[in-house]
Amino acid sequence: MSQQRKQPIRTCIACRSTSDKRKLLRIVKGTDGHIDCDATGKCAGRGAYLCPVTACFEMARKRRLLDRALKTSLNNDDYQRLQDQFKALIESEVPGLGTVN
Ligand SMILES: [Zn+2]
Repeated sequence: MSQQRKQPIRTCIACRSTSDKRKLLRIVKGTDGHIDCDATGKCAGRGAYLCPVTACFEMARKRRLLDRALKTSLNNDDYQRLQDQFKALIESEVPGLGTVN
């Protein structure tokens, strides 16, 4: 058995800090083009990562960083819906353990 490789590292699209993939919250554009917070980090599609803090989401919202990262066009309703999902996830503090699907 070879040694386990280090954990995958991802960059927060807002503050550009890098972190273990599992410590960041993934926003995913699914194959149907629908944008959602991905609590499991396993949904198929193009993903963008954010620190699980409101400040980073708000920065991403102000600068429209999700539009760029996901190569899409989000309106205010989309951002509001994502922000609600995002807050619910970080407040639960156990991403991936709930039944968020
Ligand atoms: Zn961040």
